[in-house]
Amino acid sequence: MQKDLTIAVIGLGLIGGSILKKLKNTKYKLIGVSRSPETIHKVIQQGLVSEGSTDIEIIRDVDIVFVCTPINKTVQTLITVRNTVKPKTIITDAASLKGFILDFVNTSDTAVNFIGGHPMAGTENKGIDASFEKLFEGAKWVLTPSIWTTERDIILLEEVIKELGANPVIADAHEHDKAVALISHMPLLLSQVLFSLVKNYPDKNIGKLAMRLAASGFRDMTRLAATNPELAGDMLSENKPYVIESLKELVAGASEMQNLLSGNEKVFYENYLENAECRAKLYSPEGKNIYPD
Ligand code: NAP
Repeated sequence: MQKDLTIAVIGLGLIGGSILKKLKNTKYKLIGVSRSPETIHKVIQQGLVSEGSTDIEIIRDVDIVFVCTPINKTVQTLITVRNTVKPKTIITDAASLKGFILDFVNTSDTAVNFIGGHPMAGTENKGIDASFEKLFEGAKWVLTPSIWTTERDIILLEEVIKELGANPVIADAHEHDKAVALISHMPLLLSQVLFSLVKNYPDKNIGKLAMRLAASGFRDMTRLAATNPELAGDMLSENKPYVIESLKELVAGASEMQNLLSGNEKVFYENYLENAECRAKLYSPEGKNIYPD
């Protein structure tokens, strides 16, 4: 097959590995770079890349670079990538936060051909063995253009995102961070609060019984309590102002709910019904977000 574009993926864990697995056998030539030689050995052995190395020099001539390292390594990796590739090479990333990265890129003295990216898909697992081909199927993929971004490059990157099975959504980087505080970081914190409530319940007998009885409702609500700790730590500390703001709203919401339940059940159940109906329309039966654009 004629390979018309070369794509490099740096950081071959859950996200980077899933990108390679999905783009394998497409028109793109794939190059993989990661920290550990074992991971590189694996992706070569599994036929996921044409070339793989721990040395970033191998990406010198590629057309598009996906930086999929942990959040706290993203800016440093971006600088290395920018100093290695041709000026026209499109650089994107997968980091779950966009504001501080775009602030860095937009205030840089040297041009960085960067478009921020964030796939709205993931699991609580990490590393190359946790990656899988269908991870991005039907997911939204946020793109946050920088001051250096051209229309042509957005169109080209959107094409690759669609090839990954995802739907691109253009957004402002800081608005993205406020939104993910609500829909990613609050669920993570809530799952920790709920899990901790049961685990440390003051009446030990009741706590133990609750743990023994915990079925699918508790399982679904606390899945995120086991999120990769490095990822969770990076997300929560880098997005702290927006997380704290959202947390205050959440506590106020919980307190209002408590007041309604004890003082005004009619309004409580009206709100309940409205939320239940709205929630039923947010996802398709397959679990994909179908909120209209
Ligand atoms: P991950 O599974 O921990 O994978 C990251 C991999 O990067 C590591 O396994 C490591 O691979 C490699 N690595 C670490 N430091 C590196 C360096 N300096 N240079 C090159 N490779 C390096 O993490 P992930 O979940 O894929 O997350 C990657 C990015 O995607 C993060 O920015 C995260 O915010 C974002 N994201 C994650 C999710 C999610 O649900 N997990 C969802 C959306 C976006 P080896 O040591 O094996 O070489």
